[in-house]
This record gives sequence, C-alpha cells and structure tokens, in this order.
Amino acid sequence: MKGYVQVYTGNGKGKTTASLGLIMRALGKNLKVYMAQFMKGQKYGELNILEKLGVLVERFGTDECIMSPKDVSEEDKIKAKEGYSKVKEILLSKKYDLVVLDEICVSTYFNLITEEEILHLIDIKPSETELVLTGRYAPKKVIERADLVTEMMEIKHYYSQGVMARDGIER
Ligand code: ATP
Ligand code: MG
Repeated sequence: MKGYVQVYTGNGKGKTTASLGLIMRALGKNLKVYMAQFMKGQKYGELNILEKLGVLVERFGTDECIMSPKDVSEEDKIKAKEGYSKVKEILLSKKYDLVVLDEICVSTYFNLITEEEILHLIDIKPSETELVLTGRYAPKKVIERADLVTEMMEIKHYYSQGVMARDGIER
C-alpha cells in the first residue's frame, strides 16, 4: 500500500490527538507504528498506553514549555538534533508503516529543526510508509510537498479563559 505525507497544523486544538487517533486505527489493522515527540519531555497520557500496545514512542525535548524563542535552551537544540538523526534511521529501516513526528512543524518555527531537514525526511520516506507531521506553523515548502494538509482552526479555545493544559485532556 502506498504511503502519503500528512500534515496537521493550525492554531486550534486537535493536531496531536488527531495523530493519536490515526495510530489507534493503524494498530487495529496491525500496522507497525513509530511516534517521535519533538519539544516534549514530559510524559503525556498517550505514552503509557502506547507502550502497553507495543508502540515505540520516543521524546526529544525537555520538561520546559517553549513559548517563545528565548525559552530555547542548548539542551532543546541537542535533543531536537538527536530526534532528527533517530527519525532518519527509523525511516531508512523501512520497519514502520506509520511514522508520526509530533510537533516537528513547530520545531522549525523555533529553529530546532530546519525546513530542509523536514524535506529530507520526506525525500527518504519509504514509498509504503505513511508519514504524519504535526505542529503549529508548518513551513510553506512542507505544505507544498505534503499530500494531505489539515489546518485546525481555532474558533474558540478555553486557553483564552486562562485554562492551562489538563492531565488526560491536553497532556
Ligand atoms: P492536542 O494535543 O490537544 O491535540 P494540539 O496538538 O492541537 O492539541 P498544540 O499546538 O500542540 O495543540 O498545543 C499544546 C498546548 O498549547 C496545549 O496544551 C494548550 O494548553 C496550549 N495552547 C492552546 N492554545 C494556545 C494559544 N492560543 N496560545 C498558546 N498556547 C496555547
Ligand atoms: Mg500538539
């Protein structure tokens, strides 16, 4: 089966959770799944359950939340580069049917991963692998190269009421 490149971007809620929904569906048909979470070091709710389901999930970030470029540390940069190398290996191994790179798009916005690096990952993607890239501010060239792009549009978000990320709902 041919694999395509999907991008979930935009400011509304649902990018990471959409990718998790796709992972569930893929597992239901016995596809092999790999997930990398860029810019995330904390243990999100999905982590334990995906590990129980035998999915390899790797995190390439720190515990600190990056809200602006001044929050980016050396460690964040090192982890992002580590993630990029690992993902290259994962794609070249041809072992996975679905590869999800969570928050890789927003990593470009914070200069942790370059646009060219994402394009390179698309170039080396085995033809049968489905590649999903999530995160705000997807770079223009990545959008051009993708086969499917969904923009989550924020109509309302309780974030503006001061509601921070909640366990089991946002993290
Ligand atoms: P989900 O993981 O629930 O599917 P998402 O992947 O679409 O959401 P991200 O862009 O990854 O969302 O957002 C991560 C976090 O940013 C959210 O947990 C939320 O608390 C916070 N957030 C939401 N809206 C805003 C906003 N307008 N500005 C800054 N931070 C926000
Ligand atoms: Mg997300």
